[in-house]
This record gives sequence, structure tokens and C-alpha cells, in this order.
Amino acid sequence: MNTYLFVWNPDKWDWVNLKPEDGQLNLEQSIGQLYETGKVVQKWSVASHKSIQIGDRAFLLRLGRKPKGIFASGFVTSAPFLSRHWSGENKDVYRVMIDFEVLLNPDIDPILGTDILNTGNLAAQHWTPQASGIAIKTELVDELEAIWFDFLTTEKIRFNPFSTLDGENRKIFTEGAQIQVPLTRYERNPYARKACIEHYGLDCVICKFNFQSNYGSVGKDFIHVHHLIQLSEIGKSYNIDPIKDLRPVCPNCHAIIHKRKPAYSIDEVKQLFKNALRTFPVLPTV
Ligand SMILES: [Zn+2]
Ligand SMILES: [Zn+2]
Repeated sequence: MNTYLFVWNPDKWDWVNLKPEDGQLNLEQSIGQLYETGKVVQKWSVASHKSIQIGDRAFLLRLGRKPKGIFASGFVTSAPFLSRHWSGENKDVYRVMIDFEVLLNPDIDPILGTDILNTGNLAAQHWTPQASGIAIKTELVDELEAIWFDFLTTEKIRFNPFSTLDGENRKIFTEGAQIQVPLTRYERNPYARKACIEHYGLDCVICKFNFQSNYGSVGKDFIHVHHLIQLSEIGKSYNIDPIKDLRPVCPNCHAIIHKRKPAYSIDEVKQLFKNALRTFPVLPTV
């Protein structure tokens, strides 16, 4: 997964959600929609259209008018496609669809300002780029994710997805499991995932399945993480602890965990897995 920086200049372009089925929403309405439905998709122009891929990470930076800084993050959900330039000029630009997990209003909410981005190691990145959709230097991505995550979990932001998760509707479906498992924002966040995997490793804590040992390099770094705390138990002051609250699980075990509401515990599914092995041993076929 690579990480790209997209740019919004409100002096050049009003925020309008251009996905036809959602109607035309301004920024506040888009934020409301994200809060209500867990989903806001927006198309954005991308300079790195030759390298960007579905699943890549996206940060959105507001420039032009103060306050300047990162105010949204999400994931790329389409291949680049050509569409008309915002100016209405007879000219096409490459765009991608971005599914936002976080969307703030820079005129109301705190944002991660360019003053913070321009200090320490992160200063090596150019935070006032001329074009939208430029790759963020690989060596800076971990630090950016950590600072963004820390910012989101500590700042008092309305509708902060990382401090109050209240409904099942805020889950996001992922691909890759036999049964689709809805992932919470905690489970999908790159910083939280990394901290969990660095501590527990990449084996499923239930069945011990490891994707790289079974599928080779294609399976490298592949695993889900499961958030142990029931969303209904999360109070307003909840702050995620990736080691206490997350566990690596394979998509199959993850699907079983969520087969019941409230979800099965890790120990319960471990027990189910052991019992099933004893009753129906899976014999290798040669
Ligand atoms: Zn498993
Ligand atoms: Zn889960």
C-alpha cells in the first residue's frame, strides 16, 4: 500500500460531492453523511495516475486559505479515470474515487496544521504541493499515520470516528474473506494495525494460520485485526489501545467471531476451532 497526498483549494473549487447517487452535498452535508452512514466517497484529481492503485491510502490537505493542513483521510477505491477539469475548460484530468473514513471541516474542527507537518522528520515532505495526488515519501508514512492517529484520538473533534463509535452502521465492509467481515475504523486504521501486528505478529491468534507461509510472498503482511471491545461498550472517552484492544485474526476466524451478536470472544472461537478439529479431523489429500 502506498500513501498519496491530495489537495483541496477552497478558493478554486467549492466542495461538492459529485457522486450522483448521493446528490450534491457541500462539505458540512458530506460530514453529516459520513456520520450517519459511515460512508462518503469523493472523486479527486491525481497526478500519480500511473502508480496509484485501489486500496492505497489517501490524505487530503487544504491549501489556499487558512487554516491549512490535513483534514481528511481515507482509501482509494477506484482505478484512475479521465474526467473533465473543474474549471469547465475543455480539458480532462485523471481522478480516483476516495472513500473517506475521516472528514473534518477546517473552518469548524481542529485540523492537522502544516505547522506541525513542517516540523521534525515530516518536514522532508513538501506540504504545499502544486498538484493533487502525489506520493508521500515511504519513510515518512509511519510517522504521518502515528501523528494523524494521535491527533484524532486526542483532539476534541465533532464526530471523531476514533473516540466515539456508536453504531453498526459505521462499519466498513472489506473484501478478502469467504464471508464479508465488516471492519471497524479501528480495525482498518494503518497505525492501529501496525502497532497490533508488531506486538502479536502475523499469525491468526485463533487458528495460527499465516498467509505468507501458505501463499508465499503474495500473502506477506496480510491479516485482519479484530477489535475486542464491543462498540456498544464504548463510552465517549474511549481511546483505543492497539495492543490491549486489537488481535490479529485470519478473515475466516474473523468472520466466525462476528457470526454472533454480540461477537464471540477469541477464547470461544479458539474452543470451537479445537472441538471441530477433534470431531472432524481434516486429512490431507494427496
Ligand atoms: Zn484463523
Ligand atoms: Zn472484528
